[in-house]
Formats: sequence, structure tokens, C-alpha cells
Amino acid sequence: MDLMEKIVSLCKRRGFVFPGSEIYGGLSNSWDYGPVGAQLKKNIKDLWWKTFVEERDDVLGLDAAIIMNPKVWEASGHVEGFTDPLVECKSCHNRFRADHVDTKKPCPECKQLNWSTSKNFNLLMKTFLGSVEDEKDVAYLRGETAQAMFVDLKNILSTNPKKLPFGVAQVGKAFRNEITTGNFLFRLREFEIMELEYFIEEKNWQESFEFWRKEMWRWFGLVGIDPKMVHEHEIPDGERAHYSKRTIDFEFDYPFGTKELYGLAYRTDYDLKQHQKFSGQDLSLEGIVPHVIEPTWGVDRTFLAVLLSAYHEDGKRIVLKLTPRLAPYKVAVFPLVGNKEDIVAKARILYLSLKSHFSSVWDDRGNIGKRYYAQDEIGTPWCVTVDYQTLVDDTVTVRDRDTAQQERVSISQLDLYFQNKLK
Ligand SMILES: [Zn+2]
Repeated sequence: MDLMEKIVSLCKRRGFVFPGSEIYGGLSNSWDYGPVGAQLKKNIKDLWWKTFVEERDDVLGLDAAIIMNPKVWEASGHVEGFTDPLVECKSCHNRFRADHVDTKKPCPECKQLNWSTSKNFNLLMKTFLGSVEDEKDVAYLRGETAQAMFVDLKNILSTNPKKLPFGVAQVGKAFRNEITTGNFLFRLREFEIMELEYFIEEKNWQESFEFWRKEMWRWFGLVGIDPKMVHEHEIPDGERAHYSKRTIDFEFDYPFGTKELYGLAYRTDYDLKQHQKFSGQDLSLEGIVPHVIEPTWGVDRTFLAVLLSAYHEDGKRIVLKLTPRLAPYKVAVFPLVGNKEDIVAKARILYLSLKSHFSSVWDDRGNIGKRYYAQDEIGTPWCVTVDYQTLVDDTVTVRDRDTAQQERVSISQLDLYFQNKLK
């Protein structure tokens, strides 16, 4: 098995991620986050929000609707220009991104050489509002979260006045009707992003771009993405999105190749000017239309990069060395034996007490070795075992995931012990 297969298998085996609607045969490239996956994903988003919204004085949060007035997407240029080149094999009717296949060669599916000409395919996902499926009732699931940060700017500032420079941040789902998807969580049609629009004066764009570039590097450390696996890629002229004057992709060494993880773009004043034009509203501030630096973090790609960075094999042992602040559970609590009433009762009380302070999980199945093995695979940093000695001196065994070392700790000290470890 290669590393990617191992990760997909671990994700399914332990309930991080499994195929969506699987009892109906699944749905192409649809994945569901299971119990520990949902928690890990939430922890990633919470850490991002804490780091870039709560801990900053100059960033405001937003949670906007996914379906916006369709005029937004006309103004932003997405209805016209948010396209990928598409070719169809006229023999088997499979469709491919024109830049992903060599049309001088036969179709990878049916081996015939019978390509259509390339045409542009719009990636906005269409839906209809109300009961009539008429073109005039077309709406779109947002193709990016950024637009709401521009469209809502007046309402945001009228209630929360800020002087330039300042940012607006949002975490949420976006949708792209990708022609080809794949590589597990890497390219999805429905995905989640954490994004910030940082409004500035034009003359400060380079300085602000550098600031956010450093912040993105700092983030890798916070979530435990191996910085040696990250590379900056400057997008050359002619390949950037229609709104951008400078873009850096942060690429990650996935097992299937070095590909995009995050992006940092200088969007100029393009979007606000477009919305001024299309809405007829004045979106200037302090006498100017602000320019924008936009750092974007994909949640699903973060999740994948975090897992790939954390995955370790130690002989037969598989260990997910997640940074403790991201681990779905911080502590697992075990009674040494499941059939000794006073040990189980003591462990249960301890579990409920720890659970009110730290995300904790109970396990009394099988033997201790198997329980350690299971917790290592979901990345639980500490396992606490209540045993015969606990009944005598109120101490427990705390076992560390990464070193597999154990130490005795007094129950009365446990909260403080974990609090210090989690700092
Ligand atoms: Zn074909």
C-alpha cells in the first residue's frame, strides 16, 4: 500500500472520513467526515478563527449565506470567466480538463483518438430558486467565500467601524463544478475554506502581502504541517485568476505530487470597483476604494496535509502524531479491567470529570494493548489507566502517545498536568 492508500484506509477504519452515501454506492468524490474527523476538522477551524479573528484587533468575522444574489457573480466575473477548458472524447463521451490530457494522444478511458475541440466550462454550481426551473430563477452556490466580504462591507463597517488597514474573515463552504475530481479530499466539488480579505491602501500592498505570507508560514507550525513539505510557487503572468496582480500558491508534497495547498493573492481593488459599478453603491472608504490582500486556506486540504504530516509507523504501531490542540480527543480513560466493579466505577468518575475540561473518550473494550493501538491511530496524546494501585493511593498511569512512556500521576493533579501539556 502506498501512503495515500494507508491514509484513506485509516480514515475509514477509525471514522475520520468515509465515502458519502455509501449504502447507495456512494457519489463521485463525495466524502463524509465521521465522528473523529468532524472533531479534527472543527478543531482546525476553531484554531484558525482564534488565531486570525479573536487574537487580532483588526479582523472582523462574517458568516454569510451560500446562495447570494446572482448579480454578485456577474459583477465578480465568475459567470463570464470562472471556467476550465473542457474536451470530450467523442467515442466514449468521457469529459476531461483540456489541460489534464494530451489531445495528441488517445483517450485514457477507451484508447480511441477522437477528441472534440476544447470549450470553456463554467465551474459555478447552478441551482433554481422557488418552484420554477426557469433561467430567470437561476442562482449559484457560491464559488468562493470572498464575495460576501466585499458585498457586505458597508453593513459590516456601519456596525463595527474600522480604519484601514483591517480584515474581514469567513469560514464556510464553497462549490465548484470541477470537471475532474479526485485524490481523496484534494479536489472536491463541495469544499470548505477559511479566508480573509485584508483591506489596505494601494501603496501598502507589498508590505501587507509580505505580512500575510509570514502569517501563513506561522500557521503551518500551529497545525503541525511539516514545513519541509511546503513550497512557495509564484504564479506567473497570464496564469493568475482574472482579479489578481500577484499570487503565491503554497504547495504541499502530497503522495500524488506537489500541488496546491493554500493561496495568497493581491486582488487589487478589482472586486470592490466591480460591485460599485454593478450595484450603483459607493463602496469607498476614507475617500478611496481599498485594495485587498487575500490569504486563503482550504479546510479539507489542511485536514489532508495535517494527516499526512502526522502519520508515523513505528514497527507495527501506527501513530498519528497530531499536535495535541488539534487531536479529536486529548485524553482516553481506561479501567485496567472491565469486570472489577470498583475499578470501573472509579474510572468512570474520573472520565466524567476530565471530560468537562478536555475532549475525552472512554474505552473498556479488549485489552490495554489494543486500546493503546486504537488511540494511537486516532492521535489521542494521552491515555489514563485506572488500576488496582489507584484504589490504594489515588494515582493513575498516564501514557504518552509519542514516546509510549508511562508515569504515575495523582488524580488531584491531573487537570493541571494536562493543562500544562496543552499550553
Ligand atoms: Zn474515450
